[in-house]
Amino acid sequence: GETAPLPTVVSEGLPVPTLDGTVDYANFDHAASTPALVSVKTAVDSALRTYSSVHRGNGWASRVTSAWYEQARAEVRAFVGARDGDEVVFTRNSTDSFNLLARCLPRDTQVFVFETEHHAALLPWSARRTHRLPVPGSVADATVLLRTALREHHGRHRLVVLAGASNVTGEVWPVRELAAIARAAGARVVLDAAQYAPHRPVDLDDLGVDYVVLSGHKLYAPFGAGVLAGRSDWLDAAAPYLAGGGATKAVTTRGVVWQEGAARHEAGSPNVIGAVALAAACHSLRTHAAAIEAHESLLGRRLLEGLAAIEGVETYSLFSPDHERVAVATFTVDGIDSSLVSAALSAEHGIGVRDGKFCAHLCVDSLLDDAYAGDATTAVRASVGLATTAEHVDRLLAAVAELAEHGPRADYVLGAQGWAP
Ligand code: PMP
Repeated sequence: GETAPLPTVVSEGLPVPTLDGTVDYANFDHAASTPALVSVKTAVDSALRTYSSVHRGNGWASRVTSAWYEQARAEVRAFVGARDGDEVVFTRNSTDSFNLLARCLPRDTQVFVFETEHHAALLPWSARRTHRLPVPGSVADATVLLRTALREHHGRHRLVVLAGASNVTGEVWPVRELAAIARAAGARVVLDAAQYAPHRPVDLDDLGVDYVVLSGHKLYAPFGAGVLAGRSDWLDAAAPYLAGGGATKAVTTRGVVWQEGAARHEAGSPNVIGAVALAAACHSLRTHAAAIEAHESLLGRRLLEGLAAIEGVETYSLFSPDHERVAVATFTVDGIDSSLVSAALSAEHGIGVRDGKFCAHLCVDSLLDDAYAGDATTAVRASVGLATTAEHVDRLLAAVAELAEHGPRADYVLGAQGWAP
């Protein structure tokens, strides 16, 4: 039948060198960063022709640029399903968004966060009382852990940190269920949508969360633009994240009156090109949501089932092997260092994967403590994107099977840049 169109990336068909010639790049590192969409490049090219500083003057270029910036904010508002009273703040990335939110929490806020979280979601809360919830063994376990922690630690202000999808296993977290538990206890929820928004529609209201965090560079836009969206009260009551121009209403010798709304936390000339790029990506992903989900679920299943079927390869899940997930798979190859697996896939097959602990050390350590993990201390992560083809998946599966059976083709030495043939 007809396949619905997918947004196109600028790097489609990119040739890369391997030990025996050039092949088209099989990029399986989308969970780290995504290539830009053609629609993003078009929007950026057009913005680059006329831009000036945002909200800084009445010159034509400045007025046009200011309008783009606010249009970009409106596009993001729609993308995250922002409600009345929600603010959309442009940041650098998810890490920046979490740090901004952390600074805005009322002093007495207690934070509840699962140890499975990415470091960006796990670490910024050190100035507040934080309750770490252990890595859950099942969805039921996660709900019990959260319910119990909220019952044991009362307080006027509480914030629960939840991932939409794990950047380690790709598993989709039971956000609605956990957010409902938080809400029933009077706690707020921040959703880490860095790995979720590229694959599934985000809707603050539908998911029942108060804040959402995301990164443009995982959404098929370039680096340097991210978002914190959500309830404005704590944001407006807090000191500005950055002090400087654009965040002020008035400055006199006696003091400063700070802006309210997004501008309060966006001091300095804004990254308007980044905002335009991010918004163009949001627009494309929203327009093609159904096709994206269909493409990724097909290839994601082929990838995960293929890997799981290879002798000497272990795949990892937090919840259960058939739990809903985005197209991310983490695996180890018995007896071969994960960074050597990654180097060999690149040098011999033109395949890009990530290896290590994926900025989620507690999560990876817990998964690898599993009896099946042999002596691995790091893992390999393969993640599907819009330009991934079935041929790419099959190339990866064949290459991993060959590695598991025969080891790498060439001799590799471990140098300062990692393993190299
Ligand atoms: N959360 C998750 C789930 C992530 O995967 C990442 C990026 N690996 C981040 C947060 C942090 O994103 P950034 O590096 O863009 O700040």
